[in-house]
Formats: sequence, C-alpha cells, structure tokens
Amino acid sequence: MSKQINDGFCGTVGNTPLIRINSLSEATGCEILGKAEFLNPGGSVKDRAAMGIVEDAEAKGLLKPGGTIVEGTAGNTGIGLALVGNAKGYRTLIVIPETQSQEKINLLRAIGAEVRPVPAAPYKDPANYNHVDRRLADEVENGFWANQFDNTANRDFHFRTTGPEIHAQTGGEVTAFVASVGTGGTLAGVSSSLKEKNPKVLTVCADPYGAAMWSWFKHGHLDIDDGDSVAEGIGQGRVTKNLESAPVDEAYRIHDSVMIKMLYHLLVREGLFLGASSAINVCGAVKLALEKGPGQVITTILCDDGQRYLSRLYNPQWLKEEELDPAREGLDFLEEI
Ligand code: PMP
Repeated sequence: MSKQINDGFCGTVGNTPLIRINSLSEATGCEILGKAEFLNPGGSVKDRAAMGIVEDAEAKGLLKPGGTIVEGTAGNTGIGLALVGNAKGYRTLIVIPETQSQEKINLLRAIGAEVRPVPAAPYKDPANYNHVDRRLADEVENGFWANQFDNTANRDFHFRTTGPEIHAQTGGEVTAFVASVGTGGTLAGVSSSLKEKNPKVLTVCADPYGAAMWSWFKHGHLDIDDGDSVAEGIGQGRVTKNLESAPVDEAYRIHDSVMIKMLYHLLVREGLFLGASSAINVCGAVKLALEKGPGQVITTILCDDGQRYLSRLYNPQWLKEEELDPAREGLDFLEEI
C-alpha cells in the first residue's frame, strides 16, 4: 500500500477537489465545476499566491532564513503569508489601514503576524498602506516585500498548479474558465495554462460593479468603473503586472443583487458555504453557459468559505442595511444574471 501523507502546510496547498455544482449543471446542460480553493490549509485561493511568492523569493535569495515577509493586506493573502511564514520559519509583518475591522486584525495577530495599522490614505498618497509596506520592507532587517499585485510569482504559481490541475481533473475536456480579479494572478495564470494546452478554451473575467476589469477586457480602457460591490478581495482598478497580457476572451459584470441570491442558493441547495467572490464566479460560469448553450465544461474558483463573512453576508441585519435580498424562487434568479 502506498502512503498518502502531505509534507506539512506547504505540501497541502493546492490539489483541491473540483466540485460539480449539480443543480446549475442540470439547469444549463453544461458541466458547472468549482475548484474548491476554500479547502486549502489556510482557507483560501491565496495560499497559492503566498506559496508562489515565498518560494520564488527563496530561490532568488530575496528571502533568507529568519527573514520577515512584509505585505499590505487585510485579507486572505495576509493569512496565507502568515501561515506559510510560520511553516517555513519567517516572521510576517502586515500593514493595513486602520479602517479594517478589528476582527481581521485579531485574526492576523492570532495566527502569528505582526500587524501594523496605518491611517487610511488614497493610493496616490505616499502614506497609503500599499506604499508603507514597500518602505517598511527596506527598513526591517532581512525584510522582503511580497508585492502580490505586481509580483508575477503569484500568476506563475497558478500557471504551474491550478491550471494543470483543472486540465487533469476534467480529463482535458475543460472548455472554459471563469474568474474574478483581485491581483489577477488566478485569472491570468490559469487562463495562460489552459490555453497553452488547448487554445480553444474560452477564458472569462467575472467582474463586480465598482471595478474596471470588465471595461479593460471589453473595451481596452479603464474608464467604466461605476457602481459598487460588497465582495471582498476582488474589484481591481488598474492593470497589475500579473494581469499584463493575460489571454482573456470575454468579460461579464455581475450585480450584487444576483450574487447574493447565488450565494444563498449554493449554501441552501448545494451545501457550499462560500464568500461573495465565489458567488460572482459561479454567476459568471452560469452566464456563459446560458449564452453559449449546452455541452460546455465550465470551470471556476470557489475562493474562500462563508465563515469569514458571518457578520456580513450571513447576518440578516447587515443584509438589510445593504439592501441585499437573498430570497429567491428556485432558479428563476438565473435569468437576472
Ligand atoms: N476572492 C477572494 C476572497 C480573494 O481574497 C481574492 C484575492 N484577493 C480573489 C478572489 C482574487 O484572486 P486573485 O488575487 O488571484 O485575482
């Protein structure tokens, strides 16, 4: 009998299941398949970016034993970096705006990161946390700036792992891939990988309102960024280095009013307890299925789980304040996507 043992935290990142979303597959006549990235050991798709960035920095000698990983992030990347850091013997220093919830600060501290809250400032201001983290990495002894948005080790890790896993798990039958954009590492890396294996694979960006990626992929400019979304971890306004020359064929905008119905459908009918970006991704997959018709094998990302959003997406009072209504009749809401 061969042993099946993973090599610590780092050896457990990736190789996530690809889940058939039965109700939506049956309704559309397509295979709607979600890559269960919420089952990564740090709980999100960003464990892959953290691994890719840290391994690349080690290989290039930018991160040395006992060094400190520095990044500006309040979300899943910070969690991934802190846990990969623990497993590999690095300190993690996370810079975040003071406006972030105490819950997130507590979580990062609980898992071992040093958290440095800074006053909120616009991106163009040098006091913005995205610039403070870069300077801090220079000041801290043996500091390394992870730079998830423009460090293409993020995209490369998806190219090497997520893409090939999806190809293999579908027996090479995947016809489309849909993902929303935070850094763009997932969309760019997986799209390039799948197209390298089969140039006919259709690659699609699912954007929330208030972001500019739909505008970028549809029209080649960043001018249309109207509206807003409660989705965390996605909603990009510039072409990051990870997104540069990403082979993306199509883009959709998904409204929060239908995202929230999908989120609750996935929970109540499928037993999948997820965050908003996952629901936006699945809406994108269904939109493609309805537009292009039956027979496609459409894959997407289930980014993180619902526990991270108990006080928001799964709190009736908060939903009311945000004027979001999860009520729906069967699958009628699919027509609104
Ligand atoms: N969903 C969630 C919940 C995330 O935290 C992120 C990353 N910020 C994404 C989606 C998008 O992933 P990427 O950075 O690879 O575009």
